[in-house]
Amino acid sequence: MEATIAVSGLRKRFGPTQALDGLTFTVTPGQVTGFVGPNGAGKSTTMRVILGLDAPDAGTALIGGQQYRALKRPLSHVGALLDAAALQPSRTARNHLLWLAHSQGLGGKRVDEVVRLAGLESAARRRAGGYSLGMRQRLGIAAAMLGDPPVLMLDEPFNGLDPEGIVWMRGLLGSLAAQGRAVLVSSHLMSELQDTAHHLLVLGRGRVIADTSVRELVAAA
Ligand code: ADP
Ligand code: ADP
Repeated sequence: MEATIAVSGLRKRFGPTQALDGLTFTVTPGQVTGFVGPNGAGKSTTMRVILGLDAPDAGTALIGGQQYRALKRPLSHVGALLDAAALQPSRTARNHLLWLAHSQGLGGKRVDEVVRLAGLESAARRRAGGYSLGMRQRLGIAAAMLGDPPVLMLDEPFNGLDPEGIVWMRGLLGSLAAQGRAVLVSSHLMSELQDTAHHLLVLGRGRVIADTSVRELVAAA
């Protein structure tokens, strides 16, 4: 399927907080798009709206021209990492992934593939309750990749990774995009994304304050 994310005029208010204040942007296949802004800028809310988890007050968020909720077999279109902590501690990583795979009609072979892609081999048979945040991030990435989706949305995937993990994550994001996927990655730190992203969307108080290719940014500096 066509994997462009197109967000237009998105607005969302929580009580007195205007979380999204008219967001418009496009996430293109084949690129890592960095979604950068301070905590509270609206990154998570944007991802939740794209995934149909929050309803916008105005505007549209489309994936390949369709709303997430209208997609057939959505997990084969969009993989998301929203919260590394959302895990049952008594399950092993492998059991967790097998359960998710089963719910998507996928088998154990695909689980072994994503365990390898996420660098989880040594930990996959241990209970997730003993995992570091970095390992939970890897498990979250593995889960997002299960359905081999053309669109990936990852909220702060660098959180909790050690330096080696950060290098690994950058490489993984690059290769997922090089295979033609649209990859939207949030971070509150520009430094985590400037060498990884092809495109940067800078968010502040629910608005896009910069939307630029990294090549243009470097040329202008
Ligand atoms: P970011 O991901 O950039 O840190 P968020 O999207 O989490 O930003 O939050 C944007 C703003 O909306 C913040 O002020 C946050 O407190 C507020 N917000 C987000 N979700 C809710 C919610 N469910 N209820 C109330 N306020 C919320
Ligand atoms: P992030 O830092 O990744 O943006 P948060 O910790 O801000 O994540 O948000 C985690 C969850 O809490 C989300 O579901 C978000 O909508 C909700 N949330 C965020 N801020 C508030 C708030 N002020 N009141 C209620 N819920 C909130």
